[in-house]
Amino acid sequence: MADPVISKKSMEPHLITDNLEKPLLDNRTYRVIQLPNKVEVLLVHDDTTDKSSAALDVRVGSMCDDEELPGQAHAVEHVLFMGTKKYPGENDYMSFLANHAGSSNAYTSALSTNYYFEVSHKYMYDALDRFSQFFISPLFDPNGLDRELNAVDSEHKKNLQQDNYRSYQLGKYLSNPKHPYSKFTTGNLETLRDGPRGKGVDVRDRFIKFHERYYSGNLMKLCILGRESLDEMEKWVVELFSDIKNKDLPAPTFQGAPLSENELGTQYYMKPVMETRAVTYTFPYLDENPYYEAQPSRYIGHLIGHEGPGSILSVLKEAGIATSLSAGHMRICNDTGMYVVNIRLTVNGLKKIPEITALLFSYIHILNTTPPQEWVVKELQSMAEVEFRYKQKSTNAANFVSEMASTMQNTMPREYLLSEHKIRKFDADLIKKGLSYLRPENFRLAITTPELPDGIKWESKERWYGVDYTLQKIPKDVLDIAIKAYNGESTPSIGSPGNSLHLPHPNPFIPTNFDVVRKEVETPSKVPTLLRNTPESRIWFKKDDTFWAPKANIYFTLRTPKTYSTPRDYALARFFCELVKDSLHEYYYDAELAGLEYSLSPNMLGFDLEIGGYNDKMTVLLTKVLDAMRDLKVKEGRFEVIKERLVRAYRNWELGTPYQMVPEFTRHLLAEKKWLNEEVLAELDGLAGVEEVLAWWKSVKALSVEGLIHGNLYKEDALKMTDLITNILKPQPLPASQWFVRRCVLFQPGTELIYERDLRDPNNVNNAVEYMLHLGTIEDRQMKARLLLWAQMSQERAFDTLRTKEQLGYVVFSGSLMQATTMGYRVLIQSERSCAYLEERIEAFLNQDWELEEEAFEKHKQSVLNRLLESLKNLNQESNRLWWHVASEAYDFLQVDEDVKVVSRLTRSDMKQFYETYVKPGSETRMKLSVHLKSIAKKGGEDEGKRIGGKNVYIENVSEWKSGMVLSRGPRPVRALEEMEVLGVKL
Ligand SMILES: [Zn+2]
Repeated sequence: MADPVISKKSMEPHLITDNLEKPLLDNRTYRVIQLPNKVEVLLVHDDTTDKSSAALDVRVGSMCDDEELPGQAHAVEHVLFMGTKKYPGENDYMSFLANHAGSSNAYTSALSTNYYFEVSHKYMYDALDRFSQFFISPLFDPNGLDRELNAVDSEHKKNLQQDNYRSYQLGKYLSNPKHPYSKFTTGNLETLRDGPRGKGVDVRDRFIKFHERYYSGNLMKLCILGRESLDEMEKWVVELFSDIKNKDLPAPTFQGAPLSENELGTQYYMKPVMETRAVTYTFPYLDENPYYEAQPSRYIGHLIGHEGPGSILSVLKEAGIATSLSAGHMRICNDTGMYVVNIRLTVNGLKKIPEITALLFSYIHILNTTPPQEWVVKELQSMAEVEFRYKQKSTNAANFVSEMASTMQNTMPREYLLSEHKIRKFDADLIKKGLSYLRPENFRLAITTPELPDGIKWESKERWYGVDYTLQKIPKDVLDIAIKAYNGESTPSIGSPGNSLHLPHPNPFIPTNFDVVRKEVETPSKVPTLLRNTPESRIWFKKDDTFWAPKANIYFTLRTPKTYSTPRDYALARFFCELVKDSLHEYYYDAELAGLEYSLSPNMLGFDLEIGGYNDKMTVLLTKVLDAMRDLKVKEGRFEVIKERLVRAYRNWELGTPYQMVPEFTRHLLAEKKWLNEEVLAELDGLAGVEEVLAWWKSVKALSVEGLIHGNLYKEDALKMTDLITNILKPQPLPASQWFVRRCVLFQPGTELIYERDLRDPNNVNNAVEYMLHLGTIEDRQMKARLLLWAQMSQERAFDTLRTKEQLGYVVFSGSLMQATTMGYRVLIQSERSCAYLEERIEAFLNQDWELEEEAFEKHKQSVLNRLLESLKNLNQESNRLWWHVASEAYDFLQVDEDVKVVSRLTRSDMKQFYETYVKPGSETRMKLSVHLKSIAKKGGEDEGKRIGGKNVYIENVSEWKSGMVLSRGPRPVRALEEMEVLGVKL
């Protein structure tokens, strides 16, 4: 007979630590334990969380794929969700989460597979029970298998035309073929279904073996966040996760180097989809995982990647060669990393690769001959320390646990799990060791360019993405120049006497004053105070009463109709903002490093100027930005460089992903005035010189200021900041009659419209459809409540029907679509299937039986209410919400409470009526607009030239169509602004 005491004891988890380093204002509690099956668990108790969440990270990733099954680890990640012995329903987990305000996701990297979810805090135990079963007894349901392989294939096709995936894959493809780094990791139908089946490989069987072989307790890290006490959560974890088998497997290790002698000293040209030009230096580097205390790459990256005076980028920019530079290390696997320096080039820069290479190695020479500087590390230390000390909760519980589970795979004392970015010591020898990898005989060069230099042709195609490339040796003259520069035997040929390479000066922006004046209030205010309301300025203010961080956010709209009158005005306004930012760049870089950010951009209403971060030196930065606007001086050559960059960005947009582009056309149809990307591009292309931009700015004489100041600041600070604008820019007030009014198109009941566009990119095989049902104006709270509830009721079913069952494509969204004054419900799909087919499937989906049992209906309603009532997690989230209410011009600060009231009262019969009036296909009163973005890659496809019949009318001429439409009125305050002057917080 088994001794009951002993068997109970073997279930006891082992405490590792409950003493984690925490941010100053963090009121969560933490505990790290290990279960007897060696699953390590981080428990996080949070009294106030709305969502509970969990993540499990297994230390096996695509580097472990079987040779003949590329994409295996990724496919296992997909198929694992297809039911378990205890919960066999294929959709059980997803629908459980969807019914309780939850969601789930997963990803597969080279070394790890990471699964995570979040759910309304009341349902954590049941969700956790379902989740744990995936690691105990997954079914690998053969019925779901083919469909999930299709989903993997569609995911790959979504990535095909995206340059980040293409260049990452090409870099791997051209690395040492004996090292698993070189594998194709996403997988598609060829690698996961047709290929293996042709060879008689039983794919499902191999997936099950893969799971059996690698999914072992000792390689798993689990993180759980919930409202329950740590003891309670510990009990759950023991109960639910102890059945995971431990096989005491060693973590997979890999032999050899990703870049061997064969690859070092080579260079390749890569043809991008977008118009980008870049040069990338990749050095084999150490694995920094064991050096969590000193992190030498932070020092090296700070200096090589610096953007202030004397930096590599500063010299390159002044010469009109580069637009940006990044430098940093990435871990590849055990004992191996890479150090990557990536420089974005101008057209001119592409001809200067030998000179750029010499400049990089000259800087490395400086680093090698200057002893590692302790003051630089001290600066980095104090910035990291401050950032950690005042870190606030992230807004997304699922992302937090996912990151933590992944961090737990790293080597470091568990006390440092939350503070892994802190630099804990200065280690000169380790910095020297890191630098020793950056040698001229130890790198590979990649050149991204749409056009090749004379005499070179595109010679090869990468196997999985079809990327054109040409591989060769690095030319001898380039290597010779690099060696000379590295040894300090030459001076760089770029750079002027006034701007030569040197280490940066100390950063004056590092904040020193962290005083937070805490004034406890009973209930935090939801409404800011209207501090000032005059023709010159309208200023909203809220002193933080919840988060107590030494931070603030300020937002200003400088109203002028000039920024959006014509596409040319908009192009000029954008150009002006870019020139201001360019003139400030080196100055601003220090502020940005020290956690203070700003942005300046034009929109329909005028200019938006925003500053956020530590409030200590905010006014200094604001003054500098305003001075730069007033006194804009443009250095020689900068106009051309910025024009090239802006034109390229607009041109590249046209080559983007269809599902991201289609909303632009929908907005263009719905708004009274909305310039299209192509209209702005044409004007940018035609800009002659900097004089036109400066003359345009001179013509902007009237600006009215609307602002919000929120955070660790006083009323006096807010007024002082506003006065800075009027004192420095000295504008006239803009008469209200000249304010831009946003209006949107209103539809007539019974309208069924379709608008078609061809995709520009001839190689993109994907179509996209955005199908929208118009629901009137956003002021209609009753209708908005129905929309929110309908969006919730249909969301999970849309995903399950259109993506999982019908396999239309990897990208399937549904939900509400808000415009400036109107709203609608939308379904968005990207797919290889024709737009006509997608339209038909969406209609079929909407035409199902939508009657719900009372219990299911109440659950959906509760989900909407839970989402609405979610508490704010950090200062930025609250600032964004407040500013959204100001910028919408409705000033509806109590909107959430109003929405809650209306949603709570909705009944099944309300929703039935809503459905039959506004949603059901064939309804005489619904209003549909569907935008079809069509691929031109496959001519003569299934719907070439075919038009959809029924009541559908095609919009042929947008201007003509819009001029015949009735418009909504403009946005209006929900109550008189004068009333609000008394509503806000009293100080
Ligand atoms: Zn995937």
